Amino acid sequence: PPPAGAGLLKNLNPEQYAAVTAPAEPSLILAGAGSGKTRVLTTRIAWLLQTGQATPGAIMAVTFTNKAAKEMLTRLSTMLPVNVRGMWIGTFHGLCNRFLRAHWKLAGLPQGFQILDASDTVSAIKRVIKAMKLDEERFVPKQVGWFIAGAKEDGLRPKDIEQRDEQTRTLVQIYQAYEDQCAREGVVDFAELMLRSYELMRDNLALRQHYQHRFQHLLVDEFQDTNKLQYAWLKMFAPPGAGQGVFAVGDDDQSIYAFRGARVGNMSDFEREFRVKKVVKLEQNYRSFGNILDAANTLISNNSRRLGKNLRTEMGPGEPIRVHEAASDFNDAQWLIEEAQSLHRAGMPRQEIAVLYRSNAQSRVIESALFNAGIPYRVYGGLRFFERAEVKHALAYLRLIENPNDDTSFLRVVNFPTRGIGARTIEQLQDAARSSGRSLWQSVGAVAGKGGANLVGFTQLVDSMRNLTQGLTLREIIEQVVETSGLADFYRTEKEGAERLENLAELVNAAEAFVTQEGFGKDAIALPVDETAPGTIAAGLPLAVAAAAVTPDAETGEIMSPLAAFLTHASLEAGDNQAQAGQDAIQLMTVHSAKGLEFDAVFITGLEEGLFPHENSLSDSDGLEEERRLMYVAITRARQRLYMSFCQTRMLHGQTRYNVKSRFFDELPEAALKWLTPRNQGFGSGFAKEYQEAWSRGSGLKSMVGAGQRAYSNEKAAWVEPPVPASMKKKVDEEHGGLRVGKGVFHTKFGEGVLMTLEGSGPDARAQVNFGRHGVKWLALGVAKLTPID
Ligand code: ATP
Ligand code: MG
Repeated sequence: PPPAGAGLLKNLNPEQYAAVTAPAEPSLILAGAGSGKTRVLTTRIAWLLQTGQATPGAIMAVTFTNKAAKEMLTRLSTMLPVNVRGMWIGTFHGLCNRFLRAHWKLAGLPQGFQILDASDTVSAIKRVIKAMKLDEERFVPKQVGWFIAGAKEDGLRPKDIEQRDEQTRTLVQIYQAYEDQCAREGVVDFAELMLRSYELMRDNLALRQHYQHRFQHLLVDEFQDTNKLQYAWLKMFAPPGAGQGVFAVGDDDQSIYAFRGARVGNMSDFEREFRVKKVVKLEQNYRSFGNILDAANTLISNNSRRLGKNLRTEMGPGEPIRVHEAASDFNDAQWLIEEAQSLHRAGMPRQEIAVLYRSNAQSRVIESALFNAGIPYRVYGGLRFFERAEVKHALAYLRLIENPNDDTSFLRVVNFPTRGIGARTIEQLQDAARSSGRSLWQSVGAVAGKGGANLVGFTQLVDSMRNLTQGLTLREIIEQVVETSGLADFYRTEKEGAERLENLAELVNAAEAFVTQEGFGKDAIALPVDETAPGTIAAGLPLAVAAAAVTPDAETGEIMSPLAAFLTHASLEAGDNQAQAGQDAIQLMTVHSAKGLEFDAVFITGLEEGLFPHENSLSDSDGLEEERRLMYVAITRARQRLYMSFCQTRMLHGQTRYNVKSRFFDELPEAALKWLTPRNQGFGSGFAKEYQEAWSRGSGLKSMVGAGQRAYSNEKAAWVEPPVPASMKKKVDEEHGGLRVGKGVFHTKFGEGVLMTLEGSGPDARAQVNFGRHGVKWLALGVAKLTPID
């Protein structure tokens, strides 16, 4: 009979075979996109299990995104019947969360600690800066956030930071105050998840021994994008020389997170520190047709600092890469939809079609076009369901039920819906909390007068919600809270509240789906394994949470409550509720979040100078090389069809930008491309020349945009304003410098019109106006002078 595990190995090439069956010692696989790195890693897990070399509990595997972790589980489940319960497969954050849920007490955290997502973190820092009476212009919350996250990723606490100058001294003080605030509120941010679990392992010998003994096999995908702390964290679980199998796979050409502290150098450090005997290279690409691979290889050969490796395919050239130039981003979206539809009609599932963009802000136009055309789509990252205001309000009430000391949530809803608690009352409350070192909730008694009474009323409301929801199912809890909090009534009376109510209803659905998938309910610890079909795993599983949910507390053995697990899920998972779960939908995402994934057809949009490559990268060669790696990642996601597009004009951040096509087009093999539009049509050429000159003078982007505008008016390119998507008409009616939706306005050039939509605020504010004869236009209010008329 064939040896155990043979079936798993029969479709591997010799190099892959060697990697999968390598002895349990440190291994490094260095190979290009689509060469089977992830497949090798997954197959190795299956092989270790099937040949009895490892039990599920002895395996830890780290992936880069929740989506990748999910796919790994799905792939594993098709290979052999596995019990996911003991296996630690997830992202670094997901695994840290699981670890800290089990050892919260040792880690100095409250049992129900909550996770701050990116925007929560910024607003928490903002509060600290305000409390310290510092200038928000000098200490911009977002930038302070980068400082703190950067420090944490270097393993530095406030006391460890060298205070070179006044600026750093203040930053360290903010960092310290922020830490105190998080401790008071019982919350942790993403970087804290990593650092806290790292420190716990470092400082606790017994725990370290336990886990080093337990995990005999650590496997890390996308190793090129680990940062310093993540590498140090791994070494806590598997130090060099401890005899565990550490299996790292990566591709230096796909290192795209340097801006977040990723260190390609971790690969060579790993090779050295772990005394890797032989670095395995995989050179055959199984994903893409020849033209796609040629484009990727030629493009990346423009980078100088590379470890060097080749990719070849046996699949033949396939279709050419189709390149499209559009007059505007709106036209681009229309074209894209037509192409996608025809692929779909020809039999390609929608979920095999991906639209990639460099920056999140680009998705809006594509989204509304898809929405209008009635095509289901799903957005990963960016516009997340769980980040919508009404959803965050509801979650804040739920968090307060779990943990009343969560000041972030407290502030979010203490006066929402309004209950007579003004800014002055809040300030008094914050002062009282600060001076006594307690949470806002605990300080409510310290505020006198009517404001104080209203605050007490608020805490009573939350207390009553906690009582009312005892023993209810998750679904009932959320329904109850949405009603009792007054949110439902508030949105019922709000003119444009219908959409928000829908989102709240969707939150109940999300909870329902979560419960079903998690197996929470009557039989509590149910595992995310489909018992009726051994070996299969319930689809759509939010892994990090499943892991946390089934890991009982190390001391009390308590399993996380469904509500707590759901709240964790809300913080960790990038919501993907635009299309219903399981519905076939086009996939929209940034290039960054597409890493490791593959699709039959890929559209790379917005290939314009300043956008991709991004304007922040243009001034230094490291930055440009990272952009090129990003482009390499984008290209190599495609199996059969690849499209690239760029637009002459684009509305971004309320401004019309005039663009030239990305320099990356000059770095692609012409023979692999097929231009759908004539090259250098329209006004582009004159602009390109001026742009080049501005660029060689070293001018900033502003003057380049200026150059574009001049070229634009010189050549009088006819640009027709796009018709207005219906979805955009449904926008909140709000006051805006005397402007009111539905009322008349006057514009010096277009004359009288009717205001249809107001969006954004400050420099981002924009309006949609129907000028009748001149058509419907979107205007940036910072630029366009609109006067209200009655
Ligand atoms: P990336 O660098 O983009 O993460 P990767 O190196 O991880 O890529 P995989 O995603 O593992 O590559 O594999 C790419 C595709 O090739 C997958 O669809 C995989 O199933 C397929 N593949 C890999 N090896 C083989 C093989 N030996 N035979 C057939 N198909 C293979
Ligand atoms: Mg991979």
